[in-house]
Amino acid sequence: MTDFTATRALFELPAGVIYLDGNSLGPLPRGVHARLADAVAAEWGEQLIRAWNDAGWITLPRRVGDRVGRLIGAPKGSVVMGDTLSIKVYQALASALDLVPTRRVVLSDSGNFPTDLYMAEGLLASLGRGHDLRIVAPEDVASAIDESVAVVMITEVDYRTGRRHDMPALIAKAHAMGALVIWDLAHSAGALPVDVAAADADFAVGCTYKYLNGGPGSPAFIYVAPRLADVARPALSGWMGHAAPFAFDVSYRPGAGIERMRVGTPPILALAALDAALDVWDDVDMGDIRAASLRLSDLFITEVEARCPDLVLASPRDGGVRGSQVSFRHPDGYAIMQALIARGVIGDFRAPDILRFGLTPLYIGESDIVAAVDIIADVMNTRAWDAPEFRKQGLVT
Ligand SMILES: *Cc1c(COP(=O)(O)O)cnc(C)c1O
Repeated sequence: MTDFTATRALFELPAGVIYLDGNSLGPLPRGVHARLADAVAAEWGEQLIRAWNDAGWITLPRRVGDRVGRLIGAPKGSVVMGDTLSIKVYQALASALDLVPTRRVVLSDSGNFPTDLYMAEGLLASLGRGHDLRIVAPEDVASAIDESVAVVMITEVDYRTGRRHDMPALIAKAHAMGALVIWDLAHSAGALPVDVAAADADFAVGCTYKYLNGGPGSPAFIYVAPRLADVARPALSGWMGHAAPFAFDVSYRPGAGIERMRVGTPPILALAALDAALDVWDDVDMGDIRAASLRLSDLFITEVEARCPDLVLASPRDGGVRGSQVSFRHPDGYAIMQALIARGVIGDFRAPDILRFGLTPLYIGESDIVAAVDIIADVMNTRAWDAPEFRKQGLVT
């Protein structure tokens, strides 16, 4: 059994804050300080260029990739870290489209995160081969997969509502129709059990600063099924994915397997922070995380609905089709969230009307949920949110 009192002690959480936004930016694991200080002083400072070999910097994207891989059911050697998620979406889509050259449709859904759709738009325009980005409602994805579809590009858990797609079923349908599937696991990795190998996923990508607590801008990951890893063209053919980067050939030859999905020089300090953050998961069972997350979410939904009748549940009521977040709708959602943050309950707002709360059992327990709902109920029932200071918008919501 995962000891959640022990995992909570591994985080630095500011006093007076109930942090329900780990689905957007995970909090700081205590071990990151020492690891970063060492990477800066002992590795960069003392070893200088020698650290690429002596401190293992050059293999860090693969070693950290294996640690992330364990959390998403990926076999060793099938995940590599680097770049941002937007870049990895682009790369996975370009590679996948190359593998299905005769078809012209990329299928996604309207609940997908905008950058995924924007990157697809940009890529399809650059390819100039007449591809079409077809966007349907999340419920209609399965029935929209037909023999015109080259690639299905889906985010497993909807960032607004927390609605969760049925990964094995969509993969089975896509494969039966001759299409490939790319999964964005931004709201899945570290949030719920994922098994990319058992589900026979083709490509999967995700970020690490949300439920994996890697820190702002921490590097993304990409998984390519071993059956495709040696045939997929990496599309972003950077030197770090070359078969022999230090041969300095004038032409590109892709590296073996997942190595080819590397692009340029890895962000070592960010990777070191992420590597330390992943220590938190060493004794964690994803099944325990899921059970605790559903328990917290169900409690949260029950209490908010009982005490705040103006907040309308935007997430599926059935935990089986929900990720690890709970969202409510309210036309004044922005001001309400600002008022909650002012009182130490930190969630976030997503336009046009969504109040979003991430439930993360590593460091959030039942008593936090109870305390948070007390504050939410007070802010709602006294209309404390209805004040000019809570309507001011920052650049980031
Ligand atoms: C958070 C998120 C992103 C963010 O992409 P970045 O390149 O890291 O900014 C992309 N896709 C999804 C589904 C996300 O939830």
